[in-house]
Amino acid sequence: MIYEYQIRVLPEQAASEQAIADYLSQEKGLNRLSITHVRVLKRSIDARQRTIFVNLSVRVYQNEMPEDDQFVHTDYPDVSQSQQVVVVGAGPGGLFAALRLIELGYRPVVLERGKDVHERKKDLALITKTQQVDGESNYCFGEGGAGAYSDGKLYTRSKKRGSVEKILNVFCQHGASPSILSDAHPHIGTDKLPKVIEAMRNQIIRSGGEVHFQTKMTRLLLCEKAQGTEVTGVETADGRTWQGPVILATGHSARDVYRYLAEAKIEMEAKGIAVGVRLEHPSQLIDQIQYHRREGRGKYLPAAEYAFVQQVDGRGVYSFCMCPGGFVIPAATGPEQIVVNGMSPASRGTQWSNSGMVVELRPEDVEGEGVLKMMEYQEQLERTTWQQGNRKQTAPAQRMADFVNNRLSFDLPKSSYAPGLISSPLHFWLPPFIGKRLQEGFKAFGKKSHGFLTNEAVLIAVETRTSSPVRITRLPDTLQHIGVRGLFPCGEGAGYAGGIVSAGVDGERCAEMCAEYLNAAPL
Ligand SMILES: Cc1cc2nc3c(=O)[nH]c(=O)nc-3n(C[C@H](O)[C@H](O)[C@H](O)COP(=O)(O)OP(=O)(O)OC[C@H]3O[C@@H](n4cnc5c(N)ncnc54)[C@H](O)[C@@H]3O)c2cc1C
Repeated sequence: MIYEYQIRVLPEQAASEQAIADYLSQEKGLNRLSITHVRVLKRSIDARQRTIFVNLSVRVYQNEMPEDDQFVHTDYPDVSQSQQVVVVGAGPGGLFAALRLIELGYRPVVLERGKDVHERKKDLALITKTQQVDGESNYCFGEGGAGAYSDGKLYTRSKKRGSVEKILNVFCQHGASPSILSDAHPHIGTDKLPKVIEAMRNQIIRSGGEVHFQTKMTRLLLCEKAQGTEVTGVETADGRTWQGPVILATGHSARDVYRYLAEAKIEMEAKGIAVGVRLEHPSQLIDQIQYHRREGRGKYLPAAEYAFVQQVDGRGVYSFCMCPGGFVIPAATGPEQIVVNGMSPASRGTQWSNSGMVVELRPEDVEGEGVLKMMEYQEQLERTTWQQGNRKQTAPAQRMADFVNNRLSFDLPKSSYAPGLISSPLHFWLPPFIGKRLQEGFKAFGKKSHGFLTNEAVLIAVETRTSSPVRITRLPDTLQHIGVRGLFPCGEGAGYAGGIVSAGVDGERCAEMCAEYLNAAPL
């Protein structure tokens, strides 16, 4: 027999299927020996009060085992003889586009400028060792895209539940833990993501698609037809050409792609971004604050999360991409830049918790007219930060209370940022538009959350790659570029996604629209 229950239990009572079964037999009168399996359908933590509860929706099997898998399987047919589509970029946008194309009977050819997810890891380690960033293989470029070495947070503000669940199920089919389907705030973790990404690549190849690494698109092949300009494929840096309609999923850091598109007069518009710093606290302190108890998270709770938002002088100041129990990492994509970001392992078990603390920046806040002006603003700030950081990857940093009080920090706390920190007066050299708002925002966050504004926390500069600085304009009904038929600007870099899941959802939608395009007018 199968029953479903909504229960509200203490963390230790939710710690395992056995503990939940024990609870149910005591509280609901079920015979403990007859409970053969417990499946958690939804899990969320309620930490608003001093006593912390876990809300669970569970399915209990008595004297029988579940017959179905915990996730929905997708079938991927053999498409080796099918019509070809070029997918540029192997981030979540490109990978989910490729898998969806296979589902729909088309053959994706994925072109990725960086290395495969394992080779790429060696270049990430070199950043700390050599203080240099490889412009083609880094935290943003390479198989898995910007999401590969991240926290792997999979929550999104997207309202399209069906599309979001499809993405989570595809992740499970490729090796992610089915707990991502039940957790209110699911995440995979940087130590688990590479295997999942590799499994997705292997599926593409097994189905007859292709994946090419160290293969950088340098231009689109365009031709003029009666209906207007049409893309027929792309050229790569090695001079090869690849034929087919193009799903362009090159992410928010492919500045050479934006420059090429601007030069080729392919329509785009400047887009608002958010800019600020990474803020790192001892994770124990965040646990104590968020769980309202001296012992912090204890044995049964995960590293605590927070989210803050405040309006300051007409612009949002907010926390972004929190990594509880994680690391701050050097996420630049070229020389003479410092960019920081965050990632966490699946256990979220490090002694630090970090998040981006950013200020909303609209196109009208930045001087100039050009479509690339927001990108140029990012570049300028990243270069200034590199100069302040001794022209290496050592990042300028300041204790949090010192920053708010306009004081230079005499020393800095121990940090997870491996290339090292250098004490710097961020309050002095960050653009006042950003710095002053961050100071006011931090004061407000400190009032909301006692102990949060502290010199135990450190600000690390600079967080600029929060979203795309341009939008590659596309038609809402066909998702094709507004002026180029057969070109599907996709994912975060095109300005239509902001995270792993939303990029995956957009990848799937672009694949569907590309299939419709090919159906309507076969090449
Ligand atoms: C360190 C870090 C941590 C993050 N943590 C999270 C998180 O926990 N949760 C979350 O939801 N989001 C997170 N994000 C954001 C998330 O990774 C992105 O939103 C997402 O990856 C965007 O997907 P995408 O496919 O659109 O672009 P990307 O992931 O940026 O992928 C674009 C790909 O295109 C390739 N490319 C670029 N130019 C070319 C070219 N000319 N030719 C061929 N290939 C090219 C790049 O190498 C890259 O692999 C994080 C980002 C970073 C950098």
